[in-house]
Amino acid sequence: MAAFTRLLKPSSSTSSLLFKRSLSATSSSAVASDIPNFSDPKPSRNFQWVFLGCPGVGKGTYASRLSNLLGVPHIATGDLVREELASSGALSRQLAEIVNQGKLVSDEIIFNLLSKRLEAGESKGESGFILDGFPRTLRQAEILDEVTEIDLVVNLKLREDVLVEKCLGRRICSQCGKGFNVASINAKPENGRPGMSMAPLLPPQHCASKLITRADDTELVVKERLRVYYEMSQPVEGFYKSQGKLMEFDLPGGIPESWPKLLEALNLDETEVKQSAVA
Ligand SMILES: [Zn+2]
Repeated sequence: MAAFTRLLKPSSSTSSLLFKRSLSATSSSAVASDIPNFSDPKPSRNFQWVFLGCPGVGKGTYASRLSNLLGVPHIATGDLVREELASSGALSRQLAEIVNQGKLVSDEIIFNLLSKRLEAGESKGESGFILDGFPRTLRQAEILDEVTEIDLVVNLKLREDVLVEKCLGRRICSQCGKGFNVASINAKPENGRPGMSMAPLLPPQHCASKLITRADDTELVVKERLRVYYEMSQPVEGFYKSQGKLMEFDLPGGIPESWPKLLEALNLDETEVKQSAVA
């Protein structure tokens, strides 16, 4: 905790500044009236949302689509870590050591990277955010709560058998680093749950011959990863639930089925948003 206090103290004024973006009217303020109260941003600023969901659920995909729609940055802490690793930044060496040892990156470092990212965005005139991969722990959620206000937390969920199958289908292009999925999912209805099908996300031809599977995408590791995730995320979900900010969303299938349903749940209309963005 001392480390956090040290981290927060010198920059606390900056942090609150950057989290409480003052904002001139943008496309999304026009949409605000269409969204239920729980997700209404404060009139003076843009949406400040958090996306929760276990590894493999497709959180990044939906967060990124919504960020395009709403005109707010999609900030994924996984990307921040990768970018820092690829840079010659001050944290890069320390981070490489942690990652190479297979350790979890500390809350302090993550918070540091996040602050830096928000600050950089702020100077470019960005406002609002959809956070993806943060907060991951209750402690992170509490710290975030001290520096800014979160309007809405979307918790994406997917049938576990489908989730595991989906994780096992993941492939990465060893050349360009893009992710694909070769799993063609056809889960039967069971225990009152509807069936579900998901098309694979196949690579373009120039990536097809260079696909690799992550060494830790085995059934055992995937299930263990989920167990660890649930253990860590439950307090985070509880935290936001008690604030009345948690929206649970059961993904009904792949992107084609889920995306319209998600927009509906958020009371967003894609065409209206696009039109108001133009206007
Ligand atoms: Zn490629």
